[in-house]
Amino acid sequence: MNIIVINPGNKPYTNKTIVAEPLDVLMIATIIEKKYPQVKVLDMDSNRLNNDINKYLEEKNIVIFVYDYQLPLHTSNAIENIFEVIKNTQKPTKFIIIGKTSTYYYQKFLDNGIDIIIKGIADDKVLPVIDNINCEEELSKIPNIIYKKDNKIIKTTSVPSKNLFSTMPIPNRKLVSMDNYMDTRTMITSRGCIGTCKFCTTPYFYGKWSGKPAEEIIKEIEMLIKEYHTKKIIFLDDNMIVDKERIMNLCREIKRKKIKCLFGCLCSIKCYDYEMLKEMYESGFRWVHFGIESGSERLLKLMHKDMDISYIKKVIKEVKELGYRVRTSFILDYPTTTKEDLQTTKDLILELNPHELRLHYLAYRVGTPIYNENKDISNGSQYIHSNKPNIKNNEITTEVNNIIESLQKDNYHLITEETDWNKYTDLPKNTKIAAFTPIKYGMCWYE
Ligand code: SF4
Repeated sequence: MNIIVINPGNKPYTNKTIVAEPLDVLMIATIIEKKYPQVKVLDMDSNRLNNDINKYLEEKNIVIFVYDYQLPLHTSNAIENIFEVIKNTQKPTKFIIIGKTSTYYYQKFLDNGIDIIIKGIADDKVLPVIDNINCEEELSKIPNIIYKKDNKIIKTTSVPSKNLFSTMPIPNRKLVSMDNYMDTRTMITSRGCIGTCKFCTTPYFYGKWSGKPAEEIIKEIEMLIKEYHTKKIIFLDDNMIVDKERIMNLCREIKRKKIKCLFGCLCSIKCYDYEMLKEMYESGFRWVHFGIESGSERLLKLMHKDMDISYIKKVIKEVKELGYRVRTSFILDYPTTTKEDLQTTKDLILELNPHELRLHYLAYRVGTPIYNENKDISNGSQYIHSNKPNIKNNEITTEVNNIIESLQKDNYHLITEETDWNKYTDLPKNTKIAAFTPIKYGMCWYE
C-alpha cells in the first residue's frame, strides 16, 4: 500500500524566508513509519506543488492530510487546496484527515471526498485506522473517527483524547528535504497549556499539558546540531515553560554538555519565573515570546487572560534586563474593542517597547469559546493569519492606523505582507519589528 502524508499548500504559498519544516506532519509520518516504512511526506506548501498528486500515486493509496493540527501553518484557503487534490485524483485512494478544523467541521470535509476524519489527538489512532482502512466492521470499533456509510455519517464512540506528547518520537526530518526551510530549526517539546484563553484552540483540543523530559529534548538538539549544523532553534510549543523542573533540568544538561546553540521559545506570563528565565538565558536562550493581547484589563478579563497590567510590565522589564530579545503579541479587534481600549493598548505597547510585535486581527478558530459566541462575525469560517479586521468599525480602523503611525515614529520596521521579509536577511541587535504576518524566527539573535 502506498501511504503519503500531505502538508497541504497554502494560498498563497508561505513565503520562502519564513517557511518552517511541518513538524506536526512529520510527527504523524514518523509514527506511521514505525509500522509502514514506505510512508512518504509531500510538503505541497514548501515545494509549491499544484493540486495534482497523481504522479506520486500507485495502484492502491492512502493519503493522510495533516491540516491545522499542532502548528498554525495554514491559511483557511488551504482547505480548498485539499478538496482540489481529492478532485484531481485518478487512482484508487482512501483519504484521511487529521486536525482541528476537520474535527469540528467534519461535514464539509466528508462532503468533499474525505473518507475518514480522525477527531482530536490522532497520534494513537492513525495506525489502527490505516490497518483497518478496508474493513468497516473494525473501523467502527476505533473511537473518535467519523466516516460515511451508505451516505449516512457514522461517528464512532467519542472518548476524551489523551495528550501523551511526552512519549512522542523525534520527528524524522529525513522524510522531507530540509533545504526547503528557513535556517532556524524548529522543535516541539510539549503540547497543551495551563491557560484557558477563549480565542485559543490549545486548551480545548489538547487538554492537559504534556511535555518530553529533558533527556529526550537534548537528544533532538544534539541530532539537529550534528545532522544539520544547527545554530539556532525555536521551540514552537504552545507554552514551553509550564514545568519549571523540566526546564531547569534541560538548562543544566545544556550547560553540562557544553551545547553551543541559541534558543527561542513561546511562553505564557502565567508561568513566568525569574530564576527559570535567568537559567535559560545562561544556557543560550536569547528570544522569548509572551502573548499579551491587550492593554485593556476589561478585554483581558473577557479573553480569560486574567493578567494584571502592572505584572505584565514587571515581567517584560525583567526579561529585557536579562538580555532577551522579546516578542509580544496583541489582538486589535477582539469583540467589543473600543477606541479607548486600543488607545490603552497603544500606550502599553509603547511603554513595554518590545523588540518584536506580532499584531493580530482575531482568528475565529473553530472549537474555541470565542468562535461559538460569535458565529455571526466569524461567518462559520476559520481564519488563520487574517490580515484584515473582522469588525468593520471606522473608529477601530482609525485607531489601528494611529497605532501603526506611532510604531513607525518609534522606529519599528513595519511588516504587512509576508513578502516584506524578503528585504531582511539579518539586522543589527535591538532592531524593532512590528508585523501583521508570522514573524521570521532567528532574526537578531546574538550570543
Ligand atoms: S497562554 Fe497561550 S497557549 Fe495558553 S491558552 Fe492562552 S493563548 Fe493558548
